Amino acid sequence: MRNVKGAVCIKCGAEFEAGDDTYTCAKCGGILEIVYDYDYIKPRISAQTFANDKNFSMWRYMQFLPVGEGARPGPLRVGWSPLYKTEALGKTLGLENLYIKDDGLNPTSSLKDRASAIAALRAVHAGKDTVACSSTGNAASSLAGAAASMGLKSVIFVPERAPQGKLTQLLIFGAVVVSVKGDYGATFRLSARAIEKYGWYNRNAAINPYLSEGKKTVSLEIAEQLGLAAGVPAAAHGAYGFTAPDFVAVSVGDGCTIAGVWKGFKDLYAVGLIDKLPRLISVQAEGCCPVNRAIERDAPLEPMEENTLADSIAVGVPRNGDKALAAIRESNGITVNVSDDEILAAMRLLGRSAGIFGEPAGVTGTAGLIKAAERALIPHDALVVSIVTGNGLKDVASAQKAAGIAGGVKPDNSNEPKLIRIEPDMDLLTVEFAKRGICP
Ligand SMILES: *Cc1c(COP(=O)(O)O)cnc(C)c1O
Repeated sequence: MRNVKGAVCIKCGAEFEAGDDTYTCAKCGGILEIVYDYDYIKPRISAQTFANDKNFSMWRYMQFLPVGEGARPGPLRVGWSPLYKTEALGKTLGLENLYIKDDGLNPTSSLKDRASAIAALRAVHAGKDTVACSSTGNAASSLAGAAASMGLKSVIFVPERAPQGKLTQLLIFGAVVVSVKGDYGATFRLSARAIEKYGWYNRNAAINPYLSEGKKTVSLEIAEQLGLAAGVPAAAHGAYGFTAPDFVAVSVGDGCTIAGVWKGFKDLYAVGLIDKLPRLISVQAEGCCPVNRAIERDAPLEPMEENTLADSIAVGVPRNGDKALAAIRESNGITVNVSDDEILAAMRLLGRSAGIFGEPAGVTGTAGLIKAAERALIPHDALVVSIVTGNGLKDVASAQKAAGIAGGVKPDNSNEPKLIRIEPDMDLLTVEFAKRGICP
């Protein structure tokens, strides 16, 4: 890997080679960060090389990925998810330049596919035939899908509360599924012991420093797609330029996603493709916000209970907290905590104003952005991107709560569009419509 210098511990600064079994720091147990040789990368890329590249997936950024030059990625199309300019939603929030990056449109319907694609590729490289991880759900389903597409076996540990949609994906992708009677912490610990015992390839994102490198491609795409959308010419190259947003809102669980998002922008900055860095908006659920609380109190991370319906970010002990804290601080970021009701409201608003359907953790970033906009923390003309990290069909039970047909909410008591249950009779339909002021 000529583009990679090695790995460095973000805690003690110890340096390592970037090998197949380079996981956590051998000296202090800290999390590792992959370090690139930007002097090597810079002459090999330009806005023009990207403009000419017809590979519309995360693999168009091979120069920024730790996979080696001859690497042959799997067949699934991961990445290059759409970046929508959401005018109506922007208007509601008083933001003139609001974009939504819909990463629920990846092969297994979450941003995690970006990390799992790297994991599967590196597992093949390491000569492993089985990959394993513990997960709140999406890392699992994405790993199982990536493994299936590349002829690898997968063993997946999930906490028993994982939503049915995600569990079902795992079984369809042929994974061995271990549903652990306990919380995510207990699930993680059991998986770590089993992985050690059986020698499988470890896709636990906080342990495996290569994975947030995959996740960072979401930022590379955002910057390239913003340039495309605005038609910004890159004078030096005669092609459109990459463009950094002013703010990026994203939900935070273990912290690998937000750390990856930050790394992506820093990579582009390091090679001169963007000339400024965005501020991160780190959004967590009120009932489980250890990362944001550490920032707000300027105190070390402390475990919290996992009280939120946003299962993908119900992480009481963030496994990549240090990287997340560093990313938020370095970016002069904003923290926002949202209630479950605010998450469900964001789900409805995204659906109704933009046609985008996210799972609870998928729309949590947007819920936080809504709150930040209400508090006037975001200038009205700022260039803002909110990443939807997972698709709404993964967790239909929560979506039904948002829609007002489950969880004790009576649809008739709300102002929202209503579910009309009716006999097949036109006269009855007319009556029901009249009652609700529909087509009077
Ligand atoms: C995993 C996940 C997140 C959070 O990512 P972390 O790396 O755990 O912080 C957010 N949204 C969805 C849908 C996820 O699956």
